[in-house]
Amino acid sequence: MNMRRFAITSFVGAVLLVLAPAASPHSNNLTLIGGAVHADRWPQSAQLVWNINPAHGPNIAGARPVEDVVQAAFDTWTSAPNAALNVTRGNDSAVTTFGMDGTNLICFVCHGDFDSEPETLAVTMTTVATEAGVPDGNGGTTQFAGQILDADIIFNSAHDFTVDGSAGGQDLQTVATHEIGHFFGLAHSAVVRAVMYPFAPPMQTRLSYDDVAAISVNYGKAAPDIPTVSIAGTVRFGGAGVFGAHVFADSTTSAEPFAAFNIRKSPIGAMTLPDGSYVISGVPADSYTVTAEPLDSPVVDSNLAGYAAAYGRSAMQTGFTTRWHYARKK
Ligand SMILES: [Zn+2]
Repeated sequence: MNMRRFAITSFVGAVLLVLAPAASPHSNNLTLIGGAVHADRWPQSAQLVWNINPAHGPNIAGARPVEDVVQAAFDTWTSAPNAALNVTRGNDSAVTTFGMDGTNLICFVCHGDFDSEPETLAVTMTTVATEAGVPDGNGGTTQFAGQILDADIIFNSAHDFTVDGSAGGQDLQTVATHEIGHFFGLAHSAVVRAVMYPFAPPMQTRLSYDDVAAISVNYGKAAPDIPTVSIAGTVRFGGAGVFGAHVFADSTTSAEPFAAFNIRKSPIGAMTLPDGSYVISGVPADSYTVTAEPLDSPVVDSNLAGYAAAYGRSAMQTGFTTRWHYARKK
């Protein structure tokens, strides 16, 4: 199966010894610092500014400006229910280089390292703080380990994109929406209908319940639009906790609690920790079946870059069969 995929790469600066409680594993890229796992995210209070270099080649077809496409993709996340994000577009940039430079760049003509991964559509690179209380490189001070300091989205100019839904290329807004999830620190999801699923559908610019859960767990509103709860438990096989199982809550009803927000109903997932425990957060009131499945295809270890390594494991456990763990009403 030849699937065109999104890629994720994280840059981490010098490794410093930091002792902090393990963060929730839910839906974030993770950074291992001094033996502790940190969820990558911006400070909730951050006023985020992105800058676009609108230059692009003929590989992006259609009349709609790329600036409008990227703005629409950011708006998709900032209008998500239960999430409070403060994001604005800054001045356009002519820069074609990226990294820890104080500019959160969106670029179509930057040279990303796609040579070894030609099927990759785009990549988001983040620079993450390794400790709190040190200079953040932008004139401020870091607040926590795992704090994102800089994020850049680089589109692969070797791929054909369209900006207006016409045939002949990958829909650009679909890819931008996915990459902006990474921009906010979200990891890939094994929920097939999620925007953060690692393989690109032809077009999907609306968030799913799984995406809403992920963004709202990280940047929650003080007064949520729709109340949510968490479902927690432990996956065991032969009595031992299973690490790296994909656990997801799937509604058993036709309820649409996020219908007013133009969100697609989907299961909401999480990964198990080394002891087999999991917490599925951001779950709206409904009835659910909770299923645990091995992450053995189509989403595999390498799609959740760094997850196993963050917990000191070489791989997730996949030597078990999919099973319905339990079901209960919420
Ligand atoms: Zn991705």
